[in-house]
Amino acid sequence: MKGAEKIEIDRRYCKGCMLCKFICPRDVYEVGKERSDLDYLMPQVARIENCIACGLCEQHCPDMVITVTGKEKGKEKA
Ligand code: SF4
Ligand code: SF4
Repeated sequence: MKGAEKIEIDRRYCKGCMLCKFICPRDVYEVGKERSDLDYLMPQVARIENCIACGLCEQHCPDMVITVTGKEKGKEKA
């Protein structure tokens, strides 16, 4: 199964809209406790192990601040 190595959210621009949380089919995100530079509560990557690297969160983030890095082939079992 395809997964994510890491998920980064650019704290400079996140507006805390939580569209990423609502769009994610695998329940990867939770509302976090950290605030972005714009002073909004940011999502937190709570369950990266659930991520299938579908890219929906990246595509739907209105500010395009999410970067999902997929696992490389062959490293998935590591
Ligand atoms: S969709 Fe983008 S701007 Fe909205 S909470 Fe998620 S990362 Fe932040
Ligand atoms: S890439 Fe897909 S599964 Fe992974 S966090 Fe984003 S929406 Fe969820």
